[in-house]
Amino acid sequence: MLKKLTDGFIVLIFILLLPIIVPVSLIQAQREKRQMRKLADQFVCLECVEVIGVEALRLADERWSEIVKKIIDENDSGTRLRLVRSMDAICPHCGCVYLYHKADQTFVVRSEDQAWKKYEESMVSAKEL
Ligand SMILES: [Zn+2]
Repeated sequence: MLKKLTDGFIVLIFILLLPIIVPVSLIQAQREKRQMRKLADQFVCLECVEVIGVEALRLADERWSEIVKKIIDENDSGTRLRLVRSMDAICPHCGCVYLYHKADQTFVVRSEDQAWKKYEESMVSAKEL
């Protein structure tokens, strides 16, 4: 009985705080995007020594959307998926993939995970068909 009351109270507090939590989260997300755009305009690719620019963010958004769509389409198990974004910028000049490191406010080269590499290669080959 006490457990149900406690759970109900926590849910009530959460619902009451939603009008604060949602706008604050949206503002933080917007601020992070603005910081990433500003950084991308100045960031020099570690591979090809060209400025990656905002185009790199757009390329990563497009590629990530394709990957998520494919994963969801192929998930017929009914299992809930938890996806962690594996790219934030892709150099438009050489294709180098970067992750945004929030603490240092910089891009770091994504380490090549063989599973992701294989999956992304299958995305490219499916696109070419
Ligand atoms: Zn590059």
